[in-house]
Amino acid sequence: MTSKNRDIRLELITLLGVTTTVVIAAFAIYRWLHGNFLALAVDGVIAAAIFSVVVYARNSGNSARAGNLLCLLNSSACLLAVWLIGPIAITWLYLVLLTNFFLADRRLALGAGLVMLVVLCLLPGVFPDVFHAVSTLVTAALTALFSYIFATRSQDDRVELQELASLDALTNVPNRRMMERALTHALEQQTLGRGRYGLIVLDLDHFKEVNDLYGHAAGDEAIADLASILRFEMRKDDQVYRFGGEEFVVLLKVSSRDELESATERLRKAVRASLRGPGGRITISLGGALLGHERDWHDWFSRADAALYRAKSNGRDSYVIAEDLF
Ligand code: GH3
Ligand code: MG
Ligand code: MG
Repeated sequence: MTSKNRDIRLELITLLGVTTTVVIAAFAIYRWLHGNFLALAVDGVIAAAIFSVVVYARNSGNSARAGNLLCLLNSSACLLAVWLIGPIAITWLYLVLLTNFFLADRRLALGAGLVMLVVLCLLPGVFPDVFHAVSTLVTAALTALFSYIFATRSQDDRVELQELASLDALTNVPNRRMMERALTHALEQQTLGRGRYGLIVLDLDHFKEVNDLYGHAAGDEAIADLASILRFEMRKDDQVYRFGGEEFVVLLKVSSRDELESATERLRKAVRASLRGPGGRITISLGGALLGHERDWHDWFSRADAALYRAKSNGRDSYVIAEDLF
């Protein structure tokens, strides 16, 4: 896993899980030295269970499920400790309420928090008087509420950041970064025998003239219109990316060279029929390539790009499909 894709939840599960395991294990030793074997057993079971979830998370990589498990485990352990050890264990309540929001789905964390508060109210002998009960419940409820609001805000920010990092601002289609990922994924899928893939690289014809004669804003508008046409023409499983400048890439799941060829020609015709700039019709040239036995997406892309170059040399407003590689 690269540092860009690091799983923050897995890191938190490891950090919180290992820290609490060590701290609870230290408490367990203290109980043992004082001959309190019930508390020793409770602490030992809790520490072992938390550590098992950390091991599960790291082995399976399923950090979402492990985080939810740890949230449920920590909440139950906190209640068990209050019930068996007494009110002194309530000091763990705030830590559990707060960390649950870092570990688990925020609705689960909120639900677990509310259940904990209700159970605390029902357990006999937890609070010395009503004042202690009310002040603990109010502060704990506020901790859960603020954590929930904060978790919701961070989630929204994360979604927005992901969009900013993956979509092109002018055209709203996925950017080059996403294209690189998708081509790598397509390569893996085809190697595993899960379908065949084709790639089309396309570039606006004589686009420099549009910019030079009518200005950059008119050029931008044409690029955005081209993206809309491509999106409209694409089949459900195809995906278009803005590779850079006025070049786009379309990734398609295809079963044959003929299918790739007809999709390429369809795009050329659609753009020719619909794309207009201030100076009239704007066309594109396209290069297509079926994925062969390449191990690196750059090699596949280069064959499509070379085909595009040939389409340009052939007079533009045309397409070329690269020779198949077997
Ligand atoms: P060709 O038919 O050979 O492709 O000719 P061309 O003039 O289109 O040549 P080329 O593809 O090399 O031109 C790229 C031009 O596209 C250069 C630049 O002015 C313009 N361009 C690239 N990115 C943008 C952009 O984001 N906005 C605008 N308005 N123009 C861009
Ligand atoms: Mg270009
Ligand atoms: Mg061009």
